[in-house]
Amino acid sequence: MSAQGKRVVVVGAGVGGLAAAARLARQGFDVQVFEKTHGPGGRCNQLQVDGFTWDVGPTIVLMPEVFEETFRALGRRIEDYLTLVRCDPNYRVHFRDGSDVTFTSELCTMGRELERVEPGSFQRYLAFMAQGREQYRISLDHFVGRNFNGVSDYFSPGVLARIFKARAHRRMYADVSRYFQDDRLRAAMTFQTMYLGVSPFESPAVYGLLPFTELGVGIWFPKGGLYAIPLALERLAREEGVTLHYGQAVERILTEGGRTTGVRLAGGEEVSADAVLCNADLPYAYEKLLDPKDAPFKRGEKLRFTSSGYMLYLGMKKKVPGLLHHNVMFGRDYAGSFDDIFQRFRVPEDPSFYVNVPTRTDPSLAPEGKDSLYVLVPVPHQHPGMDWKVEGPKVRAKVFQRLAELGYPDLEADIEVERVFTPDDWAGTYNLARGSAFGLAQNFFQIGPFRPANVDPHVKNLFFVGASTQPGTGLPTVLISARLVTERLTAWAQKQGVALSPRAGVPAVEVAA
Ligand SMILES: Cc1cc2nc3c(=O)[nH]c(=O)nc-3n(C[C@H](O)[C@H](O)[C@H](O)COP(=O)(O)OP(=O)(O)OC[C@H]3O[C@@H](n4cnc5c(N)ncnc54)[C@H](O)[C@@H]3O)c2cc1C
Repeated sequence: MSAQGKRVVVVGAGVGGLAAAARLARQGFDVQVFEKTHGPGGRCNQLQVDGFTWDVGPTIVLMPEVFEETFRALGRRIEDYLTLVRCDPNYRVHFRDGSDVTFTSELCTMGRELERVEPGSFQRYLAFMAQGREQYRISLDHFVGRNFNGVSDYFSPGVLARIFKARAHRRMYADVSRYFQDDRLRAAMTFQTMYLGVSPFESPAVYGLLPFTELGVGIWFPKGGLYAIPLALERLAREEGVTLHYGQAVERILTEGGRTTGVRLAGGEEVSADAVLCNADLPYAYEKLLDPKDAPFKRGEKLRFTSSGYMLYLGMKKKVPGLLHHNVMFGRDYAGSFDDIFQRFRVPEDPSFYVNVPTRTDPSLAPEGKDSLYVLVPVPHQHPGMDWKVEGPKVRAKVFQRLAELGYPDLEADIEVERVFTPDDWAGTYNLARGSAFGLAQNFFQIGPFRPANVDPHVKNLFFVGASTQPGTGLPTVLISARLVTERLTAWAQKQGVALSPRAGVPAVEVAA
């Protein structure tokens, strides 16, 4: 260990890496970040072509309180870094029978919309929201928001009671079906598990917190697009004294005798460190960056991955009327489509997809009088036999066929600029294992203490932050991951006798690790 023991190398400048780097620097660590691509953000990136701007991955901010906490913990006010705008109505859902429902947080309108589809459903919707609110609080306060030291720490009698209360032991679709009889509403209240890249038929009912956060707390959008988030975090990190190196891939996390000594960059240069914090996707890191003799990944082959996304980024010659900021198009055979994606590893015959039009909220994201469109088709992660050069054009054709049926027959002819991203691109650009867009799956046996921990069990000064470690995927969860690993790493440093001097006015992190 160096004289002071404070040097931390962070591998990757995704949202998790940036937030953790800023927090660690604030606690008194010397932090350097090495990122393989040429800028911040990772999956939360941005694409700009001929005056059109698209977010590459995330498009929805949920749980704004978690974002606020990140800035507060760093002694800042979020409004000095980000302008969050609420999207209302939230989104419109189009069903295969030609009907649609517009979801809004405005209760009278929402009630009318629901009653149109299923008379009597509004009262049950209110009960569903009340349950979602409880699930949200229990999850944030007891499951997601703290470090656990193994399974026994997690499954205390108190936690078990909360698991039952949050209905983490039930399946999402079955649970939602207690509230709604109409298949369309059942689909509309469960598809949100795909934000985590998992099937509602397999995921725990605790994810009822997702429709609650959308409708109860709201869907938010930062001015300039989601990319404003990593830009704000990058600014924060620099202000805290973090050094960022872009276009510098890490080739190896160096290990020796049960500890890491630093990293080797792709150019061969070695950078020493007292601790390494890996933000690169965890399964990829175990497979490609670590020596299995020192850091074995025993469960590696058994782990399950989330779905991927086939993406179209379209710059339109003119505005596309009728689309909201967020639009969901359901295909036929809701249940079968999840079996296709997660079990048969093929694209559904009639895929559901999501269309995002950020220019509805921020017109500056396209040239005057034009629209930027983003299409996300949930598809399987990379799988042998799936060739995206062959599959991609077929999926694209299905998207335009469906949009034509929905009243947009000329959409294809009105495209000025088009870019495509497939599971192979997710894997190649950001080193996401299997091209899985959201990281490791969040089924019951891959959440809580069953998810790979944020510290390696063998290499005690090797830590993880991001979507595939605890607590899980999605921007707010990854921001929580940054807080948790800061606590973990600070506790480790204190145990080593490292004298940290947190910046003046900063509360030392509560060490729960
Ligand atoms: C299509 C899509 C839509 C999504 N929609 C939403 C949404 O609406 N709302 C939401 O909250 N979440 C959404 N998510 C999830 C969210 O984007 C992720 O959970 C989050 O961005 C993950 O951040 P991270 O820091 O864990 O990882 P990453 O973003 O993957 O960051 C890891 C970084 O490490 C870098 N790296 C990898 N290997 C190396 C190496 N060897 N050397 C150096 N650097 C390396 C990568 O380039 C990357 O920059 C979406 C994701 C996708 C893909």
